[in-house]
Amino acid sequence: MAALRVIQKLARTVPARCLAVSRMSSQASTMSAGHPVSEVVMPLTVLSEDEQMMRDSVAKFAKEKIGPLVREMDQNSKMDDSVLQGLFENGLMGVEVEAEYGGTDSTFFSSCLVVEELARVDPAVAVLVDIQNTLIVTSLRLHGTEEQKQKYLPRLATDTVGSFCLSESESGSDAFALKTRADKKGDYWVLNGSKMWISNSEQAGLFLVFANADSSQGYKGISTFLVDRDTPGLTIDKHEDKLGIRASSTCPVHFEDVKIPESHLLGTLGHGYKYAIGLLNEGRIGIAAQMVGLAQGCFDHAVPYTMERKQFGQSIFNFQSMQHQISEIATEIEAARLLVYNAARLREAGHPFIKQAAMAKFYAAEVAAKTTAKSIEWMGGVGFTKDYPVEKFYRDCKIGAIYEGTNNIQLSTIARYLKQEWQQ
Ligand SMILES: Cc1cc2nc3c(=O)[nH]c(=O)nc-3n(C[C@H](O)[C@H](O)[C@H](O)COP(=O)(O)OP(=O)(O)OC[C@H]3O[C@@H](n4cnc5c(N)ncnc54)[C@H](O)[C@@H]3O)c2cc1C
Repeated sequence: MAALRVIQKLARTVPARCLAVSRMSSQASTMSAGHPVSEVVMPLTVLSEDEQMMRDSVAKFAKEKIGPLVREMDQNSKMDDSVLQGLFENGLMGVEVEAEYGGTDSTFFSSCLVVEELARVDPAVAVLVDIQNTLIVTSLRLHGTEEQKQKYLPRLATDTVGSFCLSESESGSDAFALKTRADKKGDYWVLNGSKMWISNSEQAGLFLVFANADSSQGYKGISTFLVDRDTPGLTIDKHEDKLGIRASSTCPVHFEDVKIPESHLLGTLGHGYKYAIGLLNEGRIGIAAQMVGLAQGCFDHAVPYTMERKQFGQSIFNFQSMQHQISEIATEIEAARLLVYNAARLREAGHPFIKQAAMAKFYAAEVAAKTTAKSIEWMGGVGFTKDYPVEKFYRDCKIGAIYEGTNNIQLSTIARYLKQEWQQ
């Protein structure tokens, strides 16, 4: 992984797709298929060397270190400590954190590749890594003061998990109806309220909390605060007993007269709603990557079974009706992956990406649901048992249509952009 970190550093200064072009230019003089090399745009699924290396090393880590623990972690609803330790040791918890803060110094696209590869083995581990990288680290990198970055980024990259605290019992899709308050008392902020469904909260050392500091301004009073776990008045409630991604902790988090220094306000007072929208727009590309990885992981278990299983004297894969279903799903997974990679590349290149991110998340969640349901059917009775991982993927995929914006919310976002485009 040390070599990986050096290559990741390159990736930060030279965008991945330019790296690919510059490699081509050294290999293929100035022309490629009759076009000047500067015009060559690499296909979405062609990875740069550093991206390929990142993907391969994460795949190896996931297979060797997470794979053997998946079933037990699902049964016990508990992430194994060795997994968390391995994620930190391999630089996967601070993928975009710059080297000066002790991170992997890589790219947003690489974060998505990491999430995809982890989800092929365990989507519960993937979401922990996704939230850490696309929401927590990004919020500090984009909006943190130098002092906040120096304090938190090295910890996030090496030993501290972060939680994103937006949802409340009465504010889910309508997130900015949140009731948690932040009152200014001298040099301190005092937080009061309760958050629901907070992922990673059992392990978290840092909580990114959205609270209203001036309710007379409505959602424009929402601000973002950094709260350390050991702050008096912060309590973590019992974790939810969930259908899927059971090894990912999801708990209510309560704030009762939680006193935090003025310096723990993140960014500008009253800009919390803007930060949440921006972070979730990006974050949902990571969730879409999680769903693509999940679908691929499930498919990779089911298809070999159809080749080995014999009925009517032949492999069940040989039946044309099976082949057509399997081919259709393979195509849909690839289409979902292209949507995800395109959204991630657009975001990285600084192009508009919000509609594409919503499409990627919506579609990838649908494809994951269809893939896992079909995989169980292809495997017949054994697919319905816990002897194979497909039933877990089937349970895990449901969350893709719920968190970081439900499917309806993604479709509303897409419709809003379509309307704008037609009205231009
Ligand atoms: C496992 C898990 C982990 C989570 N992790 C986190 C976390 O780390 N941090 C965090 O802040 N939150 C987290 N959440 C919360 C999650 O983001 C919310 O559950 C989600 O936003 C939906 O909100 P809700 O559950 O209140 O559903 P509701 O908003 O009540 O939605 C219920 C249904 O109504 C539909 N609906 C609502 N409004 C509209 C509308 N305007 N148009 C059309 N349909 C609509 C929805 O699409 C959905 O089908 C997590 C949730 C779960 C289950």
